[in-house]
Amino acid sequence: MQIILDELGRLETETVRQIAEAGTLETLEELRVGVLGKKGRLTAILRGLKDLTVDQKRDVGGRANQLKTKLEDLIVSRREELMGASSEAGLIDITLPGRPLRYGHRHLVTVVMDQIIDIFQRMGFEIADGPDIETDYYNFSALNFPPDHPARDEQDTFYVEGDRLLRTHTSGVQVREFEKRRPPVKIIAPGLVFRNEAVNTRAHCVFHQVEGFYVDTDVSFSDLKGVLEAFVYEFFGPGVEMRYRPSFFPFTEPSAEVDIRCFLCGGKGCQVCKHEGWLEILGSGMIDPAVFKNVGYDSERVSGFAFGMGVERTAMLRYQVNDIRLLFENDIRFIRQIR
Ligand SMILES: [Zn+2]
Repeated sequence: MQIILDELGRLETETVRQIAEAGTLETLEELRVGVLGKKGRLTAILRGLKDLTVDQKRDVGGRANQLKTKLEDLIVSRREELMGASSEAGLIDITLPGRPLRYGHRHLVTVVMDQIIDIFQRMGFEIADGPDIETDYYNFSALNFPPDHPARDEQDTFYVEGDRLLRTHTSGVQVREFEKRRPPVKIIAPGLVFRNEAVNTRAHCVFHQVEGFYVDTDVSFSDLKGVLEAFVYEFFGPGVEMRYRPSFFPFTEPSAEVDIRCFLCGGKGCQVCKHEGWLEILGSGMIDPAVFKNVGYDSERVSGFAFGMGVERTAMLRYQVNDIRLLFENDIRFIRQIR
């Protein structure tokens, strides 16, 4: 064992000197391969350890590893010195074309969110925001969800503590804004929402929503249709066929879900529209008088509509993305495909 330690010592002295003396990058590289390479001297010494006892192996192995690190560090710093010297001597060709910088761009979800916001802003909607952590009151009670409504279940909603929860929609902003203002109120509320759901190709536990609402004297269902049609023609293209399906939401009455004719198959039926020929794009309805009552509006005097859409879902339909998880994983290969 002593023989091996002596050998390591000699190797150290010799190699440290040779590194310092190496005058070119080539010499330095030859030296590195000669000592640390697969067939290098240090590697050969380590191979000789197999005849030693376990304790001896540990001592010699530790010493050899220390030496290996030391030599590697010395080689790296000598290499830097030599490279610096060669660039000072003008050996680097500065006329070579530079490497292009990669520019970033906005994420698909942001792009679609901005498009949606822009369309409604041009129709006179203001933007409002609310907290991500809401109380049961703003997320459910004030919006006319009965105490036993299934959406309140812990299976569907993430509770923080007590009656505080991660908002399941941005509809709570409606109530907050109604409390602050008197009609006319014409607002969109974009933001993150959270659902206690299993993540799969079509559903995620976190996504973005844009909720819109308009309250004034004499707001009717045809006003709602007008606004939604203007949005759909602007976003999906003019003349897209739309239909309203009766639906139910606690805070609107009557309620309707809006479908557009599948633009992939033209209504013949395909995988994207699940052979229905229609794609569901948003939920909407006339605001329930119970909501107005909660915020002190006189439902005899004012009326209004609300609508809401998922941003990821809209982006997926518009850009034919078949898995919602792609929008959250930040895989650069996916992100680069969409500018
Ligand atoms: Zn289709």
